[in-house]
Amino acid sequence: MNNWSLHNWGQEAILDRADDARTAERLAELWADPRARLVEVDWEGQFRGDREAGRIEPVDTTGEYDEQRHVFLGLLEGVPYFAVTTILDTPTVAIRKLLGRAEGGELEVITSTAAILNWHRSGGYCVSCGKLTQRIRGGYARICPNCDWLEFPRTDPAVIVSIIDDDDRILLAHQGTWDEGRYSVLAGFVEAGQSFEQTCFREVLEESGIHLREVKYMGSQPWPFPRSIMIGFEARAATTEIKVDGEEIVHAAWFTRDELARAVEAGTVKLPFRGSIAAALIDRWRYPAASAR
Ligand SMILES: [Zn+2]
Repeated sequence: MNNWSLHNWGQEAILDRADDARTAERLAELWADPRARLVEVDWEGQFRGDREAGRIEPVDTTGEYDEQRHVFLGLLEGVPYFAVTTILDTPTVAIRKLLGRAEGGELEVITSTAAILNWHRSGGYCVSCGKLTQRIRGGYARICPNCDWLEFPRTDPAVIVSIIDDDDRILLAHQGTWDEGRYSVLAGFVEAGQSFEQTCFREVLEESGIHLREVKYMGSQPWPFPRSIMIGFEARAATTEIKVDGEEIVHAAWFTRDELARAVEAGTVKLPFRGSIAAALIDRWRYPAASAR
C-alpha cells in the first residue's frame, strides 16, 4: 500500500523465517552458533527486557537445543533467534509497551515470539483424539504421536476501520472496558463465512449504527493478543446518526481535525499508542498532507 508508514508490514519481512532450516540437524547447529540469541518470556507472556527503554534483552543460548521447549523464530541479518517460555526472576516488560517502542527486525521478533509462544501455551492436546501433541519444525507445527494429526499456529482475523463522513470528520469510539477518555476506531472479529469487507459493514453497524458506503483496504498488522491479525480499512460513512450498542461500545462521536486536536490537548481524549494500526489509521486522516492522498 502507498504511504503506509507503519513499520514495514506492507513489505517483505526483515526476520527471515528460514523455513529450510527447520530440521533437527540444522536447528541444533543454529542453536550452537555463538551469535545465537534466545528471547525469554514468562508464563504470563511478559518479556525479559528493559522496562524503561521498552526493549527486549535476549540472552545467549546455552545447553542443548530442545525442540519441545525452544522455538526457532528465524534469522535476523544472519543471527539465529530462538524463543522460550520460562520462569523469569529478572525485570520483565509487557508486549504492549514493547510494540510502542520497538522497530525494525526487533519488532518482528517480538510479534513472532508472542504469537508462537501464546499458541504453545494454550494448546497442546490433539483436537482429533485428545492425546498430547509434540512440537516439530522448530516449534512452527505440532503433531499427534497417536493419530498423526498436524496442527499449525492459529491466527484470528479482525478488521479495524477508520470511518470518515462527507464533512471529513472521523468516528471515534470508547469501549466500556478501556481507561476513561481512551478513544479509537472500531474493530471486530471476522465471522466464519464472511469476507473482511463484509465484516467491516456488519461490525460498524452493530457497534455504532453507522451504515458504510465503501471500504478500502489499507494494510495489516500482527496483533498477538493473544492470536489476532488486524486488517485495516478506511471507510466512507453513508449515514451519520450514531447509535452505540451500549455493551462493547459505550460512547462514540464524530470529530473534526480541530475538535480532535483540542480534545487531545485538553486530555479529554486519549488516542491509541504509536505503532498500532489504529494510530496509523487515525494519523492518515489527521495529517492528510503527510499521507499524500
Ligand atoms: Zn491425535
